Amino acid sequence: MQRNPGESDFHQAVKEVVETLGPVLHKHPEYAEHKIIERICEPERQIIFRVPWQDDNGEVHINRGFRVGFNSALGPYKGGLRFHPSVYLGTIKFLGFEQVFKNAITGMPLGGAKGGADFDPKGRSDSEVMRFCQSFMTELYRHLGEYTDVPAGDIGVGGREIGYLFGQYKRITNRYESGVITGKNPHWSGSLVRREATGYGCAFFVDEMLKVRHDTIEGKICIVSGSGNVAIYAMEKLLALGAKVVACSDSDGVIHHPKGIHLDTVKRLKEIERHRICDYASEHKDAQYIAGGNIWDIPCQIAMPCATQNELDERSARQLIANGCIAVGEGANMPTTPGGVKAFHEAKIAYGPGKAANAGGVATSALEMQQNASRDAWSFEFTEKRLQEIMRNIHHECYETAAEYGDSSNYVIGSNISGFHRVAEAMLAFGVI
Ligand code: NDP
Repeated sequence: MQRNPGESDFHQAVKEVVETLGPVLHKHPEYAEHKIIERICEPERQIIFRVPWQDDNGEVHINRGFRVGFNSALGPYKGGLRFHPSVYLGTIKFLGFEQVFKNAITGMPLGGAKGGADFDPKGRSDSEVMRFCQSFMTELYRHLGEYTDVPAGDIGVGGREIGYLFGQYKRITNRYESGVITGKNPHWSGSLVRREATGYGCAFFVDEMLKVRHDTIEGKICIVSGSGNVAIYAMEKLLALGAKVVACSDSDGVIHHPKGIHLDTVKRLKEIERHRICDYASEHKDAQYIAGGNIWDIPCQIAMPCATQNELDERSARQLIANGCIAVGEGANMPTTPGGVKAFHEAKIAYGPGKAANAGGVATSALEMQQNASRDAWSFEFTEKRLQEIMRNIHHECYETAAEYGDSSNYVIGSNISGFHRVAEAMLAFGVI
């Protein structure tokens, strides 16, 4: 904490992992001897750069760009880019740190990284977003490569931004290097199911947690925070599996629609028109919009936080439990505060931490890289089947690892230990580098 002052999100992410590793370090004294913990907490590289761009009126703006290559023991750096005004080095380091373990438990050959900028795409025209992305990539490109570092999307970076970023990379490098970025449009070397993968994968993970408890998603009342990429496709899969989704949100407020959210309306408002979620209520008169509301106060059986970090605190967790919630699947990264996680564990509800539950996104990015490397394009059905198998395997691995260390219902222990173990073994093999 002294070496990384002011980076509270990063401190929180590291603490949450390190606290669970005691039994592994006990079993493997060689990890301490080779200072694996100290090494794993220090990013391999951190790049910070200026991103100048001009708005539609010709005014010049300066943003700050980041790319943190956290760990490349298992493969090239891999992790998304976040464009949000709240982004600072601590955000990128927390996300990069989480990504190391998440990527490891997918079993794919991927290192961990994250990047982004304190740029706010909200309210910006397509041309402004294009100029920003081009300026961002004009610096970032020299640090990327399909064997070096492969970014993707995250908050504020969707299909449009990936298009502009890849276009500029291709232009500067004179190479059509598809495998340098994932989340591309399937029309130009992207993978089907990548857009849906994080949300679908998270619903699959919740389904697996419920199966262990001899239960199912079918017929359950669900709430999903956010209304971006992860939230929309989490809702889509929940609906396909027979659940009823009654609420979603954005950073301004919450929509509560007891008869069931109309996903087509959310998709049009958010993916095409780029509007606010409050507009949903003007189209569906029986839905209620709660400006600045707390979505976790709405009764449900399954809760899926799919917006941002620390959006679900201890009070909200206790409210969910009191309202009869039986399962939580984290589509977002670190959305539940430590107090909230403790409450879920005490209540013994099925709690799937983001590191495991939202790993379907990066796993499908690895499938996109496979298709790029073999100049192939898989069908939607085949790719979704692969995603479902991967989520089943991740669940199994977390469950078994947690059981080995004393508590099969604790997926936090399961995901942290199994991810750490893989990375630590590779780091040991490579010597002191
Ligand atoms: P999007 O930008 O598509 O959507 C984000 C959603 O969350 C929006 O509805 C947004 O509302 C809301 N949101 C963002 N910041 C805040 C905030 N500070 N307070 C309240 N609401 C907020 O991003 P994604 O759906 O891609 O990402 C959502 C989460 O999932 C993030 O935690 C991300 O790290 C994680 N994730 C994403 C993956 C992916 O493949 N995209 C993979 C794995 C994890 P508004 O529009 O008002 O800002």
